[in-house]
Amino acid sequence: MIKKAKGFYETFDRKEPGTRATHYCPGCGHGIIHKLIAEAMVELGIQDRTVFVSPVGCAAFCFHYFDCGNVAGPHGRASAVATGVTRALPGKVVISYQGDGDLGAIGFNNAFQAANRGEHFACFFVNNSIYAMTGGQMAPTTMLGQRTTTTPFGRDAVKEGYPLKVCEVLNQLEAPVFIERVSVSDTKSIMQAKKAVRKALEIQRDGKGYAFVEFLSPCPTNWRMDAVTAANFVTEQMEKVFPLGNLRDRSADPAPVPNAIPQISVERLMGAGHDGASAQTDAGFKERRFKFSGFGGQGVLSLGLVIAEAAGASGRFVSWLPSYGPEQRGGYASCSVVVSGKEVGSPTVDTPDVLVVMSQQAAEKFASTVPQGGVVLHEASLPRPIARDGVRVLAFPASKIAAEAGTPKAANTALLGALTALDLHGLPEEKVLLALDASFAAKPALVDRNRKVYQAAYAWAKENL
Ligand code: SF4
Repeated sequence: MIKKAKGFYETFDRKEPGTRATHYCPGCGHGIIHKLIAEAMVELGIQDRTVFVSPVGCAAFCFHYFDCGNVAGPHGRASAVATGVTRALPGKVVISYQGDGDLGAIGFNNAFQAANRGEHFACFFVNNSIYAMTGGQMAPTTMLGQRTTTTPFGRDAVKEGYPLKVCEVLNQLEAPVFIERVSVSDTKSIMQAKKAVRKALEIQRDGKGYAFVEFLSPCPTNWRMDAVTAANFVTEQMEKVFPLGNLRDRSADPAPVPNAIPQISVERLMGAGHDGASAQTDAGFKERRFKFSGFGGQGVLSLGLVIAEAAGASGRFVSWLPSYGPEQRGGYASCSVVVSGKEVGSPTVDTPDVLVVMSQQAAEKFASTVPQGGVVLHEASLPRPIARDGVRVLAFPASKIAAEAGTPKAANTALLGALTALDLHGLPEEKVLLALDASFAAKPALVDRNRKVYQAAYAWAKENL
């Protein structure tokens, strides 16, 4: 008598209890594969620590069957979700269950990269050479000549390419511990599939790494066949294209030991400046919100970072959020900096108290965002002046001062000198200078040159602004 596996729930609650045992079609391979997994889970004593990640497709309802932890990771993301579960919950046995449309197409890179990293989960891949749930379209695994709703004359290598052999692709990677292709088309094959499932789960139980099992599985409904003909189709057609067998078994090797992660307190990680100062709550400190803007290569992001580092070293709460276009040089660039006496709620700055502008494009983009009472400090050589009622607009010849001080590229440092001279950041000057020096740690020859620019700019701003 055929018994229900103990690893399944008693009832199939998606339908009215007692009306149906499964949502799968008669002759479908999913039911057999489910049973093999459920049995192995119970036999290995891992049911209470197993987390099952279900896919999109006909198997999307796996969580209605398996009596263990369940997470849905549809649309090809099951391997990514399984990665997250294994990392967040080490010691769990994690299963990613995916079909050939889900894993072989939209989710291929997720699965491939997880295999390449050797993530600690078992990936059970069901290959029925077709998109089943959506009505029988060509899948990556569809065989040459096979008719589907989107290849009515048969898959053609020139137009649609060749069937994807996932086991063989993964077998090029270093990390997987176990890779095997099995079939569920007849009793003998099912017995071999049972062994492969058990081995993949033993590898998880023992913490040894990534295991991949591909099942050749019939889909009588979309193949337009009866159950017996579909099973024969697996044996006679699919196994020729997707040969059965074990491609790799390194389960006898010792389990890998990851490098130890240094233990750093959250307080130290989040609160320390570059000289080790921790942020202190100071209700009397007026929060300042800055936007530094220009184009890539002007040192806009570095200027914001120096302010952020100086703020951190001064015991302030701070955030620094860069934003830039795809170009490495010459494209739009800006950063938002918040300096506060309390934890920063959001690092975004839509309405800056102080806007620093180094290009005309940035002026046009951000000048209107400065609220009444705010300050715009801009490079004086911009072709069109900035005019805003109720906003203090300061034209500052940063490029000219930097050039006259001998370092034309240090216009950003000149702006730093002006910000300090005008006390627009509210930070101690010695912390600002230490942060400036530290920003050139990799190029010590530039420290003195930038100090010179800074001093010249500071003096000019004190006298003229
Ligand atoms: S459509 Fe195919 S894969 Fe889906 S449940 Fe039916 S037989 Fe199984």
